[in-house]
Amino acid sequence: MLKTYLEPEFRVERDDERCIRCGVCITQCTFGVHWYDAAADRVEAVDERCVGCHRCSVFCPTGAITIRRTPAEYRPNANWRPEFLFDLKRQAETGGVVLTGMGNDKPLRVYWDHLLLNASQVTNPSIDPLREPMELRTYLGAKPERVAGDLPPALRIDTPILFSAMSYGAISFQAQLALFQAAEQLGTLANTGEGGWPRGLRRFKKNVIVQVASGRFGVDAEYLNDAAMIEIKIGQGAKPGIGGHLPGEKVNAPIARTRMIPQGTDALSPAPHHDIYSIEDLALLIHALKEATRYEKPVGVKVAAVHNVAAIASGIARAGADVIAIDGVRGGTGAAPKIIRDNVGIPIELALAAVDRRLRQEGIRQRVSIIAAGGFRNSADVVKAIALGADAVYIGTAAFVAMGCTLCQKCYTGRCAWGITASDPAIARRLNPDLAAERLVNLVRGWSAEIKEMLGGMGVNALESLRGNRDHLRAVGLEQWEMDVLGVKGAGQ
Ligand code: SF4
Ligand code: SF4
Repeated sequence: MLKTYLEPEFRVERDDERCIRCGVCITQCTFGVHWYDAAADRVEAVDERCVGCHRCSVFCPTGAITIRRTPAEYRPNANWRPEFLFDLKRQAETGGVVLTGMGNDKPLRVYWDHLLLNASQVTNPSIDPLREPMELRTYLGAKPERVAGDLPPALRIDTPILFSAMSYGAISFQAQLALFQAAEQLGTLANTGEGGWPRGLRRFKKNVIVQVASGRFGVDAEYLNDAAMIEIKIGQGAKPGIGGHLPGEKVNAPIARTRMIPQGTDALSPAPHHDIYSIEDLALLIHALKEATRYEKPVGVKVAAVHNVAAIASGIARAGADVIAIDGVRGGTGAAPKIIRDNVGIPIELALAAVDRRLRQEGIRQRVSIIAAGGFRNSADVVKAIALGADAVYIGTAAFVAMGCTLCQKCYTGRCAWGITASDPAIARRLNPDLAAERLVNLVRGWSAEIKEMLGGMGVNALESLRGNRDHLRAVGLEQWEMDVLGVKGAGQ
């Protein structure tokens, strides 16, 4: 066995005066960092194991613990940054792919921070959302081209914020229950992800989108017909072009039952659907799913934001999808090769603007709704996305943070100390679904109230009037080509 050359990423500092030897940190840490030295009557820490999840410091009753980052003080080198050295050393020891969780953390330009919203002043007065009704209601699905004949199936949601696809197995049962409960209370939708739909959670029928991915886990006629909407998963922002892999050791009895695979076997969903090699093939699957659900449910397609996403979206709309979900390069994941997560795909802002423009140019924008995903951090990001053409947004990482996540990126280990992505049932039980749902509901209600404030300030009383209206946006600090892609003027113009 090779001696590790890796130095600890975090240092656990304990104020011995404050420490009451209660042992809370020892039980709360799922990475085995803390231990009690009875001879010295002290609690000690193995810094090398700390992942910086902050579970111990939050739960320490006397606030005795501080977690500090310890970037190794190598000689500064703008090319060989400490992160690269760390990964290189890790790979030299393991010979494997470096895995990670959550979304891309590289300093890619976040276009939301370079877009500013408009506000009414004199000629077009603002609206007070406390006194006048503000419409956040959103319909997902194709808009009718004429007000006659059969209307395409559409789903009504009370806020434009949905919970992203997160599969049981990648997240705990408790986390999925919390998301479904919150979606029900908010009048919005949560997404099963590709890992099936546990029997115990089928009661949330009106608020659940089910995914059909290449692995077809858990997919049968009942699964499709019970859902409010179906989403074909082609790609995911954190790992475009890469399939899913839930290792066999995580596939316990309930996960195996839900995914309809043998217990203990690897759950592999390859990157390509082996029955989709063209838009025509995709159209066949969309129509097969519609037929299986008597044309009563919208069928969406989720793709990762990649270089030619606008052309792909056009094909998807023409293939008969009702909804297109686009997941940008900052989208989260339970597990992905780090090199893929950090280097493949494009930001959702550019992808969304390009897709909306292309569909409008081709006169087919009304055939589909667009759900944007990939790193939405606050309500202003949501409003800007709607002005760029989104009908609604998916939030994943923000929902995780609401439940306690600290973005330690160790989801792939299955030992999430907050119980969110834990595969060990004993750790997963740390997450109280009712309390987690309450946090999620509070978060989305807070964002929804802020969205109403921003809309009112712009003199707009319905999301519908903002959708794709780039005149409400101005850019600061962007190059001309970026403003051209976004379709936004510079501030002052
Ligand atoms: S609980 Fe988290 S932050 Fe605390 S020592 Fe363990 S790994 Fe580190
Ligand atoms: S879900 Fe858990 S393991 Fe994943 S980043 Fe958040 S705190 Fe860490």
